[in-house]
Amino acid sequence: MEQTAKNTIVSLKDIFVRFDGEVILNHINLDIHEKEFVTILGPSGCGKTTTLRIIGGFVEPESGDVIFDGKRINGTPPNKRNVNTVFQKYSLFPHLNVFDNVAFGLKLKKVPKDEIKRKVTKMLATVDLKGYEKRNISKLSGGQQQRVAIARALVCDPDIILLDEPLGALDLKLRKCMQIELKEIQQKTEKTFIYVTHDQEEALTMSDRVVVMNNGVIEQIGTPEDIYNEPVNAFVADFIGEANILNGTMIDDCRIKILGRELECVDKGFGKNTPVDVVIRPEDIEITSPENGQLVGTVEKLTFKGVHYEISVRCGKCEILIHSTKSAEIGSEIGMRVIPFNIQIMNKLLPFYDNIIETEVTYSSEDENCFEFELEGETVKVENKYFAQGTSVKITLPPEALSLAGDGIGHLKDVYIESVVYKGEHNEIILESDERKWLMLSDTDEQVATYVPLAFDFSKAQFEVIDKTEEG
Ligand code: ATP
Repeated sequence: MEQTAKNTIVSLKDIFVRFDGEVILNHINLDIHEKEFVTILGPSGCGKTTTLRIIGGFVEPESGDVIFDGKRINGTPPNKRNVNTVFQKYSLFPHLNVFDNVAFGLKLKKVPKDEIKRKVTKMLATVDLKGYEKRNISKLSGGQQQRVAIARALVCDPDIILLDEPLGALDLKLRKCMQIELKEIQQKTEKTFIYVTHDQEEALTMSDRVVVMNNGVIEQIGTPEDIYNEPVNAFVADFIGEANILNGTMIDDCRIKILGRELECVDKGFGKNTPVDVVIRPEDIEITSPENGQLVGTVEKLTFKGVHYEISVRCGKCEILIHSTKSAEIGSEIGMRVIPFNIQIMNKLLPFYDNIIETEVTYSSEDENCFEFELEGETVKVENKYFAQGTSVKITLPPEALSLAGDGIGHLKDVYIESVVYKGEHNEIILESDERKWLMLSDTDEQVATYVPLAFDFSKAQFEVIDKTEEG
């Protein structure tokens, strides 16, 4: 039983998809096992639906293989794959009753009448709609309509059910009930469910495994516990649940420095004095007296959340979030402790912090004290700095020298927002232009997977003349 549960039913191998010249899926690999509930989770526009459509046969990859039960099925049309899809808009037939909606696929397949009756009746019982056979579709609630759509997808006995945000149209309470029901239906029917959502709580509730996607790549695949407790990077930690994500330095194995203090942790192998991202979940911070605290801060906000208090603590420039059953007085100084096991260390999303441009001066004016250079097809003018035309210059822009500009006035017009992670002090934003990645800091929330104009403040830049003669 354990053995068969691990059989791979569908594999995506090195799948690459481009729409209108833009990379949508960037060489993704994914194995899905028989009878498992897998959720593809990620922000809007990251490529979740496209991944589902590749499995369903509605999109063909530019390269890479789709393997079904060991056979390559690229090019096989959707109706020839043993897969059925449930969409957010259930696309039920309003003029047919519940029974006929569910029976529709079987009738098309010319299944004998008595067999249709047996299968539909059994399926309606599975989705808890026994006795609703004659009901008109328009007389059903959203949750009931959703169950009809699932019954219709399941009745033809596909190996895999694809579900694209199927609960998105339901209100929160109903959605939560349906999450549990869906999981029960999946367990009863022993089918493989591949589910797409941008709701992390939904993914954690229902799934055997979660696939976290961002920007056309898979960031992490794991059980809900894995991705919550052991996120591989700041993006996953930020996307899954609430987290304090802090800049830290791995001093040596099992020694981390954050907020000016050295703490013990359990991670090894990051080298010495390596900049890292550190994740501490709010519920893993214990409140103690300032003398006993590994970290010390001042309580700024306190909100009662029913089961716990949400406490915001200022620790130098940083804001730390704590979930605790203990209360704390606003304005008081408290100590905070975290056991080594609950300090997660991760490699930085962008290993190199410097935004570096190496270029040649294309025009300059000593009188006006300025120069120009070409950057990814744009002419960029730098004021209050002069280098002779033809000089090779290295320009280093610290993250605070970058900002999002108004339409049409940025130095680069269309830069893609790849990730936004709150670091207790400000958002760290990773941007992607045609030729490189950039790191900037921002106090405002920005929408990932959108295009923005980017501007540079050259008064904060460092300039260095590159001596070409040294390069041999
Ligand atoms: P959402 O949660 O918003 O549905 P998603 O993660 O499911 O997002 P996809 O629907 O896979 O994302 O889309 C990924 C990107 O591909 C988006 O930028 C989208 O605009 C683009 N895209 C999707 N389908 C097409 C298409 N047929 N032609 C051109 N671009 C497309």
